[in-house]
Amino acid sequence: MPTNQFDVVIVGAGGAGLMAALYASRTARTAVLSKLYPVRSHTGTAQGGVGAALGNEEEDRAEWHTYDTVKGSDYLGDQDAIEFMCSEAIPTVYELEHMGLPFSRTPEGKIAQRPFGGHTNNETGKPVRRACYAADRTGHMILQTLYQQCIKNQVDFYDEYQVIDLIIEDGITRGVIAADIATGELHTIHAKAVILATGGYGRVWEITSNAHSYTADGVALTMRHGIPAEDMEFFQFHPTGIYKLGILITEGVRGEGGVLLNNEGERFMERYAPSVKDLASRDVVSRAMYLEMRDGNGINGKRFLNLDVRPETVNKYAKLDGRTNTDGSPYTVTGEQILAKLPDIIDFCKTYLDVDPLRQPMPVQPTAHYAMGGIPTNVRGEVLLDKKGTVLPGLYAAGEIACVSVHGANRLGTNSLLDIVVFGRECGNRAAEYANQNTFAPLPRNAADPARRQLDILLNGPGDEKVDVIRRDMQKVMFDHVGVFRTEEGMQQALDTVRELKQRFARIRVGDQGKIFNTDLFEAWELGCLLDTAEVTAAAALKRKESRGAHAREDFPKRDDKNWLKHSLVYLTPDGLRIDYKPVSITKYQPKARVY
Ligand SMILES: Cc1cc2nc3c(=O)[nH]c(=O)nc-3n(C[C@H](O)[C@H](O)[C@H](O)COP(=O)(O)OP(=O)(O)OC[C@H]3O[C@@H](n4cnc5c(N)ncnc54)[C@H](O)[C@@H]3O)c2cc1C
Repeated sequence: MPTNQFDVVIVGAGGAGLMAALYASRTARTAVLSKLYPVRSHTGTAQGGVGAALGNEEEDRAEWHTYDTVKGSDYLGDQDAIEFMCSEAIPTVYELEHMGLPFSRTPEGKIAQRPFGGHTNNETGKPVRRACYAADRTGHMILQTLYQQCIKNQVDFYDEYQVIDLIIEDGITRGVIAADIATGELHTIHAKAVILATGGYGRVWEITSNAHSYTADGVALTMRHGIPAEDMEFFQFHPTGIYKLGILITEGVRGEGGVLLNNEGERFMERYAPSVKDLASRDVVSRAMYLEMRDGNGINGKRFLNLDVRPETVNKYAKLDGRTNTDGSPYTVTGEQILAKLPDIIDFCKTYLDVDPLRQPMPVQPTAHYAMGGIPTNVRGEVLLDKKGTVLPGLYAAGEIACVSVHGANRLGTNSLLDIVVFGRECGNRAAEYANQNTFAPLPRNAADPARRQLDILLNGPGDEKVDVIRRDMQKVMFDHVGVFRTEEGMQQALDTVRELKQRFARIRVGDQGKIFNTDLFEAWELGCLLDTAEVTAAAALKRKESRGAHAREDFPKRDDKNWLKHSLVYLTPDGLRIDYKPVSITKYQPKARVY
C-alpha cells in the first residue's frame, strides 16, 4: 500500500486548511488532502463578509468587536479566545489584502465595510459597518487568493482524497489513512502533525445552506478515537434560506437595508428587537420568524416570509429608521447600487426561483447553517481530550469543525471567515513548530485495517437498507425536533429515531461495487459520520435544560447561568454516549441578559 511522509498533513482545503498550509509550509514539509478539488470547498460560497474593526467607514474598535462576539455567543464563548480573534482580525484582513484579495472599496480606496447582525457601536448601540467584503463573493475570493498563494509556495496537494481514519496510537498522532476517490486505493500518510480542517455538518438537517460535502467527517473521525465533541447542541439556523431549497441569502441583504415582512406586510422584527430590528443576531431573527409562521403570519399561511430589498422598500425603512451615510446624508439606494453589491444573490433568485429581487420580495425560511460546536481545541489549535484541557500531541483542528470556542452558543455573521483565517494560521504555525521539535512516531502495523474494514462492511453488507432513505429520515427528524425550537419530547423522539437509523445503517450495502470514482461508497461512509453526529447533537441538546443562543427550548425558555454556563463534552464510547462539562473562560465580561 502506498505510504508517503510529511511533517504536517492538513485534512481540508477550505479557508482554514489553506491558511494553515500557507503557514506550516514556511518551515515544514506540508501536504493538504481534500475530498473536493480545493476551490470547491464550502468557504467559496460565503457571501457576506469577514469581520474586522478596521474603522474604515466609521469609528470602530477591536474591543467592541470582542464584546459583541461575547454577547452574541450568549456568554458561552471563551473570552480569551474571542479577544485574541478580534484583535488579530485587523492585521489578518490587511494580510489578505496584501496577498491580493480583491475587496470592494470605499471611494477613498480603503477596504469597504457593511453592517451585519449583532455588530454594534458599543456606545450608541447602533449597527456598525464591520464586515469587509468583496461584493457578495467574499469567501470565493478568500479561497482563490489562498489557493494561489499555496500553489506559489509549492504546497503538496492530494485532491479528491477522502480521509477515512486517523492514525493515533499510545496517545500520539501518527498520520491519516485516505482513499484516492478516483481509484478506490487506500493510502497511508505518515505525519508528525495532523490538522483537521474539514468544515461543518449541516447535512444532518433537511433544509440547509450547507454543501453536500458538509457531512461531519472531522468530528466523527475524532470521536471514534475517543476525543470528545464540544457544544454540539448549538447549531445555528440562518434566518434567510431560500424557501424549501435552503440556499443562503446573505445577511448582507439586510445589511444593505433589506427588511423581513410577514403576510400583513408588517416589519415584524420591530416587535422582537426594537433597537437593531432586522439586524438582531441570527438566533433571535430565526426564532421570531418561526413564531410568525407558527402564528399564521407566513406568506399566504405557508412556512415562509418575505425578504424585501427592492429599492423603494429599502428607502422607505431607511428613512423611518433615520439611517444615514457616513457623511451624515440620508441613506438611499438605487437598483443599480443593489445589483453592484449583491450580484450573486440576485442571480441565484432569478435562476432558482424566477424572482427578481429588485422587483419582487424573496421567499425565505430559516435554514440549518453553522456548527458552533465541534472538536475541542485551545487557542493554539491543539485538540483537547478532556475538561482539564489535556492536549493530544500532534493533532490540531481549525475552522468550522473546531470549537475553540469563539462562537459559544451563537455565531455572529462574518466571524467564521475570520475564525478560519486567524485559527488556520495559528494551527499552521503550531503544527510546524511541533513537527520541527519531534521525530516521526513509528507507524503501527496494519494501520489501514480499521479503515479498510469500514469500507468493506459497506461494500459487502446484507444490503436491505438504502443510504438515501436513512439519510432523509435522519434529516427530517432532526429538522423537525432538533431545530430552531426544541422540546424534551421532540428531542427524545429524534434521539430514538437516530439510534434506530444507526442500527439500520449497519445493514446497508452500496449499489456500486466498483473501484473507480465509487461515490456511492463514500456517500455511505459519510452517512455513518452524519448519524454519529446527529446522535451526539440530539443527546447534548436533550441534556441541556435551558435556552441559550441557538439552543431554544419551549419547556425551558430562560437562560440558566447558575446551572448551565458550561461547555458540554460528549464522548462516543463502545457503551454509548458519555457527557461531561467544562467551565467557560470568562475574563472581562460578566454574563448579562441580552437586550435588543
Ligand atoms: C452558504 C454559506 C455562506 C456563508 N457566508 C459566510 C459569511 O459571509 N461570513 C462568514 O464569516 N461565514 C460565512 N459562512 C460560514 C463559513 O463560510 C464557513 O464556516 C467556513 O468557510 C468554513 O471553512 P472551513 O475551512 O472550516 O471549511 P470548508 O471551506 O468547508 O473546507 C472543508 C474542507 O475539508 C475537506 N474535507 C472534508 N472532509 C474530508 C475528508 N474526510 N477527507 C478529506 N477532505 C475532507 C473538503 O474537501 C474541504 O476542502 C457561510 C457558510 C455557508 C454555508
